Amino acid sequence: MQIKNIYLAVAGTLLLAGHALAQEKPLPLDTAVRTGKLPNGFTYYIRHNEEPKNRVVFYLANKVGSILETDEQRGLAHFMEHMSFNGTKHFPKNELVNYLQKSGVRFGADLNAYTSFDETVYQLPLPADKPEILQNGIQIMRDWAQEATLDPAEIDKERGVILEEKRLGKGAQERMRSQYFPTLLNQSRYASRLPIGTEDILKSFKTETIREFYHTWYRPDLQALIVVGDIDVNQMEQTIKAKFGDLKNSAPEKERVKYTIPLTGQNNFQAVTDPEMTAIVAQVIIKHKGNDLSTASDYRAAITIGLFNSMLGARYAELLRQAEPPYIQGGAYIGDLLGGLNNFSASVSVKPQGMEKGLKAVWLEIERVKRFGFTATELARAKQSYLSRMESSLKEKNKTNSDSYVNEYLAYFLKDEAAPGIDAEYEMVKLALPQIDLAELGKVTQAYIRDDNRTILLMAPEKDKAGLPVEATVTAWLKAVEAEVLKPYNDQVSTLALLAKAPTPGKIIKEVKDEHLGITTLILSNGVKVVLKPTDFKNNEILFSSFSTGGTSLYNDADYQSAANSTIIPAFGAGNYNTTELGKFLTGKQLAVQPYIGERSQGINGGAIPQDLEMALQLVYAYLTEPRKDANQFQSIIQRSKAAIANRGSDPGTVFKDSVSAFLGNYNIRRTPPTLAKLDQINLDRAYQIYQERFANAAGTVYTFVGAIDMKIVKPLLEKYIASLPSKSSVQQAKDLFIYPPKGRIAKNIYKGTEQKATVQLYFTGEFTYTAKQKLQLDALKETLQFRLLERLREDEGGVYTPGAYAGVSKVPSPRYNLVITFGCAPQNVDKLIASSLDEVNKLKSQGPPQVNVDKYKAEKQRSHETAVKTNKFWLAYLSGNLQNNDPLTGLDSFDTDLQSVTTDSIKLTAQKYLSGKNYIRFVLLPNL
Ligand SMILES: [Zn+2]
Repeated sequence: MQIKNIYLAVAGTLLLAGHALAQEKPLPLDTAVRTGKLPNGFTYYIRHNEEPKNRVVFYLANKVGSILETDEQRGLAHFMEHMSFNGTKHFPKNELVNYLQKSGVRFGADLNAYTSFDETVYQLPLPADKPEILQNGIQIMRDWAQEATLDPAEIDKERGVILEEKRLGKGAQERMRSQYFPTLLNQSRYASRLPIGTEDILKSFKTETIREFYHTWYRPDLQALIVVGDIDVNQMEQTIKAKFGDLKNSAPEKERVKYTIPLTGQNNFQAVTDPEMTAIVAQVIIKHKGNDLSTASDYRAAITIGLFNSMLGARYAELLRQAEPPYIQGGAYIGDLLGGLNNFSASVSVKPQGMEKGLKAVWLEIERVKRFGFTATELARAKQSYLSRMESSLKEKNKTNSDSYVNEYLAYFLKDEAAPGIDAEYEMVKLALPQIDLAELGKVTQAYIRDDNRTILLMAPEKDKAGLPVEATVTAWLKAVEAEVLKPYNDQVSTLALLAKAPTPGKIIKEVKDEHLGITTLILSNGVKVVLKPTDFKNNEILFSSFSTGGTSLYNDADYQSAANSTIIPAFGAGNYNTTELGKFLTGKQLAVQPYIGERSQGINGGAIPQDLEMALQLVYAYLTEPRKDANQFQSIIQRSKAAIANRGSDPGTVFKDSVSAFLGNYNIRRTPPTLAKLDQINLDRAYQIYQERFANAAGTVYTFVGAIDMKIVKPLLEKYIASLPSKSSVQQAKDLFIYPPKGRIAKNIYKGTEQKATVQLYFTGEFTYTAKQKLQLDALKETLQFRLLERLREDEGGVYTPGAYAGVSKVPSPRYNLVITFGCAPQNVDKLIASSLDEVNKLKSQGPPQVNVDKYKAEKQRSHETAVKTNKFWLAYLSGNLQNNDPLTGLDSFDTDLQSVTTDSIKLTAQKYLSGKNYIRFVLLPNL
């Protein structure tokens, strides 16, 4: 269903470098995984794992992708992936999806697949506690491997769905990509094999053409089954041998060519523009042959690249904090490209007429690294971070999620990347880090930053086309940088304590245990309440958050911009440390602390490993009591924000989103999009004052902690850093703003964009009867509506790719709900598809959903609930959410009975109540041609 790798994925994994000795052996596969190859070439990987318990994930990996297509088959690797869900030998027509949904598997979220240039991967997570479901899971894998029906009628129905999927991808990025891809990819086969394919072929290909692709490439020597979960490994191995041994290779067997992008040695250049592009961007991409990640030497080389990227990244982050930043965003890194290549890529986004200054500034840092290298202190910090992350992973060894294992084995099979297991990886890191020195980093710089195989790519809005430089100008800029007089990087590190003033600890004055929920509630001497839930879901994770009432609701419109943006204050550092120094100070610590100021509340979101919890709490104290003001950095943020919103009105998606939000908020200033005038209203002193005001009184604040909590250790820390926060006796309440959507039945069209592409959003809004049971009923209504829309708009009418239904509920200031239907489609189908959607809404109101939809909803809700309640994330959201809304914490106790009470009739009544259509707003985005 999804397509991977069609954009220039920038955040690639960091692989490197050809230092491997010729005779060096590949690292052995983790011995905890059972692997084997059947005589027909079919490979399997099986591992027992109980995270999560009673679950198993099956993956079918195929070394088959769009790169193998002939000219007449373009798009059919991906089409084939869709057809695997539309009829197989044992699951005709839509029975596969139907069966899995009844077993509690969610289509799209759980059951999914992707196609890229070189691979097609199917994923199926299943309950492992029912042998019948397990058996069928294996049968589905076997069917996917070679038994797709490819019924011509089903193919014709799916054409519409895929054309709609293609339509969703259209826009400025896609139009520019089609121009620069051949240049960037050296005119290779990759440039003409985008997985989505061509419209002509998708509309008209014959059944024989896709059959030929399927029979040629879906074959055991290119396939692997990966099974990780709460299963018996021996038994699973026997089953796989029995089930997959009869798969046949095609005859005559066609060679699976491993395509690569040739390196020509040549440099090239391209400037592309588009009327809907919002940014001016320059990219310098230096291409290299990709690196293997198979041996210990490869692994060490990858670590070195990781260190290089983290040090270079830190320098760019520091550069952005000056008052007049040379660019809006900029940076450089070494990462994967495509077709067996990786690249050193430097990119910069700039203001109009700012390209020379911006690109030179980015290139100057590269030149500085080339000339002087990194410093010993930078390298020491990068190593410390690297090691600390590895130690954390090692500590979670027995709590590793099945999906992480699957990803390792996928890379092992598809890309020959080593998967030796965390113990072996940790040992290699421990051995390699002390040996990697500045000279070795210097070799990376030399190897990657070169003058050949370089593509310079400029992208800009159409209106800025005339101002774009030509190739000779850009290369002259880069040359000029190389001639500049430069100073080495000066690594400024502070050795002060974080806090200017040490806190005066308070006391825990009351402790209440709730054995039933497994939580302890503490009342602190400053009026703060702390709710703690120790869990053993993870060995090495504590999550926390806090809230107190107030937020931006307390400030009038004139102060609103300063109030809403006062959350930039923590970006200036805390205590004795500015941001740059703070980042260095926290090296190797695994923690995150982020203060927020919302519309009705303010607080902290955070997390840490147990050993860094004290530092996290110290940071909380520092952010709340010793915030800093940094006029230079403030100017930088404002300047860059202004530049970033300058072309906001050119992007159809953003225009639509802004219009909907403003309209739903009755054009209240707090709901309209950012403007230059609004940015000018942000006053640093006022923002700082408001930030201090919001956190001046800790009384009434509630903190929630969930995870690997040792009460004996945590209690004194809470007394020291939380009970010490300043407080007053009175508690300020949030102000009720009552910003609600307009009432009645309203239709609003927004015209923007040049593609034949429409977006529809249908809003049902109104007052809500706020109870746990009603929330579940609304959820059931939303899910069954989603089933109906998927069956009607996608499967029957082939008019959309993914229709969605969303529901939201709020309790304060007065209980409200909204229920939204949304989809993208062809402009000429808008009215027809809205009519179909409303017809399904009416059927829900008059008859309720079909029983099978109710059963599917209950099964998936039950199954996802089972795993959710074993995560810290769920409990943090549940506890803090219910505490904030003053809802009882015992709501989960009645989950089973509440779920039982969902029936066709109850959903019918819920639909009558919330889909009455009394308040109905129809938003449609249409092209302005
Ligand atoms: Zn798809």
